[in-house]
Amino acid sequence: MEERRWYKGDFHLHTVNSDGRKTPEELYEELYKKGLDFAFITDHNFNTVGEKAADYKGVGLYPGIEVSGNQGHVNVFGENMGLKSIESPRSPEAYNAVIDPLREKGAFVSVNHPFDRGLPWRMGFEDFRADSVEVWNAPMHTDDVKCMNWWREKLLDGVYIPAIGGSDFHRDFFVTRLVASPTTYVYAASKSMKDVLAAVKAGHVFVTNSPKAARLFLTCGQALPGDKVPFTEGATVNVSCDFLRRGQVLRVYHNGDEVFTCRAKRHKNGLSFDIPVTAPGFVRAEVRYQLGKVACALYRKGAAHFGRCDENEDVPEFIYSFTNPIFFE
Ligand SMILES: [Zn+2]
Ligand SMILES: [Zn+2]
Repeated sequence: MEERRWYKGDFHLHTVNSDGRKTPEELYEELYKKGLDFAFITDHNFNTVGEKAADYKGVGLYPGIEVSGNQGHVNVFGENMGLKSIESPRSPEAYNAVIDPLREKGAFVSVNHPFDRGLPWRMGFEDFRADSVEVWNAPMHTDDVKCMNWWREKLLDGVYIPAIGGSDFHRDFFVTRLVASPTTYVYAASKSMKDVLAAVKAGHVFVTNSPKAARLFLTCGQALPGDKVPFTEGATVNVSCDFLRRGQVLRVYHNGDEVFTCRAKRHKNGLSFDIPVTAPGFVRAEVRYQLGKVACALYRKGAAHFGRCDENEDVPEFIYSFTNPIFFE
């Protein structure tokens, strides 16, 4: 039975229909094994799922295309888009020529990895309407932290674009299973594509490291991330998570200020905190961790292999989970 609750999924996945290694069937089986509720299949310039949403063993399979050309990558999600494949667009005008008619058909537009050093988004956000932005692309790397910093600055400037994650899965390496790393949770009336996308538009979203990672909840009474709440004296938010691992830090921000910090000296289960909101603005939560020396060295080596890290680059505090903000007006 469908009910209003948190559903988990992946908004960014590739198959052999572009440059992924798995066939659609192999990918769908992996999505099922990961326990996801939904997944958007987003091959480069190719619609793998087709005109209608489908289902594989209870996993909702939703149509998408990663529009990919020289201005960057943008996901377009929607049924009845009326196209199987597109030419790689080579100018901002060519992007708009592809995307605008799809918007008119009700498609949802999400900019991917805007600060990826190899494939940044070159069309900006002022003249391009994004329904959401993929702040966390693929297993955590330093360009994601850069993107999170940008998203935070936009919020402080009063510009809010709902933030999601996407694994951008192409292939596994050795024993890794990278589908749904990260995993995006949405609070929706059902797991149908329409309800999932409505939930993203409303900002009812948090992102965490993987399907088995701790979930991170931010509420104010019935209000969820993305909601606007009238500010009242004595207001509080509740922040809770399934667990914090040793060394992880839960941080809560009110506008630009960190107003709450919980650093786990050892593994802790079932944490819940009520935190006062003392002025209008927005509140959001993050869990972060700092890699140790050896892990940093391994990370640099691995990330350098993908062109995602320079040899001597500082490895910043990584993100384990984050929520969209609740707004107090
Ligand atoms: Zn991409
Ligand atoms: Zn991709």
